[in-house]
Amino acid sequence: MSQRYQLSGSAPIFGVTLMFLFGLVTAAIGSVIYSYMMHWIPIVQLNFILTACFGAAIGGVVAWRATAGHIRSRLVPAITGLLCGVAGMYLAWGTCLLARAGLDNVPDLTLAFRPDVLLGYMGHVYEHGAWRLKNHADPVSGVPLAILWGLEFLVVLAGSTLIPWHAVADKTYCEDCRQWCETDSDIARLPIESQESVAEDVNAGNLRPLYDLPRVPEETPEFLRVNLVHCAGCSENNYVTLNRVSVSVDDKGEVKVDSKTLADRVLISRSDADRLRALPAYGTPPSPPPLADVAPETDPPAEDVETT
Ligand SMILES: [Zn+2]
Repeated sequence: MSQRYQLSGSAPIFGVTLMFLFGLVTAAIGSVIYSYMMHWIPIVQLNFILTACFGAAIGGVVAWRATAGHIRSRLVPAITGLLCGVAGMYLAWGTCLLARAGLDNVPDLTLAFRPDVLLGYMGHVYEHGAWRLKNHADPVSGVPLAILWGLEFLVVLAGSTLIPWHAVADKTYCEDCRQWCETDSDIARLPIESQESVAEDVNAGNLRPLYDLPRVPEETPEFLRVNLVHCAGCSENNYVTLNRVSVSVDDKGEVKVDSKTLADRVLISRSDADRLRALPAYGTPPSPPPLADVAPETDPPAEDVETT
């Protein structure tokens, strides 16, 4: 039975503390930039992008600190991202109030972040609205505005939570060397036709097909990609990953790559890893037919036949 990589769930307290602090600082600085840009640029499409960027900024920083802090848990960075996202939205409401009221008109800036003041401000905006859509006389208020607020909240929290969750889920850690592993991508490209049996074999720990199957040429649009994940410190922790990859070009000429994981980080021995690395990654493309086999484009000139 094969053994697959699993995060240990360990979350060192120093790394978690730094991750949380960095997330909060990003939420605080981001909330000021976010609120003022939303106030100065009242374009709905741009506001939506700003909202997504605000959530992604918090999530990105938390994800960075999660790996930098050696956190081998998906849940801890995701919860940190969630809390920092909520804090970011709270601070964004406070700075939104300051942006609308004007700093000169607020005697004490901390007033804008008091829960009762913020609730009163939200109630006022809910009732009277604060901005209007193009070609509409009345400001957006009431239930439609509340739905937009709910969407805004969800977009920010999705970015701040899901980015750290996925960032750690894709990482592999060597507990012996206390460092993240590296990935050698594309060490072999195999024919797509064999995907079911290869996936079954690799997941069961049988690497035979990875040695025996022919490699496909680099230009092949659909293939099975083999990656090796390994620890650069001890070279003892080696894993193989199998993905089904399909490369296509859409109507606009943009290259689209779809990838689906068929086997995820199955533990293999160091000698197996070395042996796989030694094999060629790609096959050679079929060579063009020799010139002798190519039919001439024009008929040869007719020969004069002598008659006697
Ligand atoms: Zn190691």
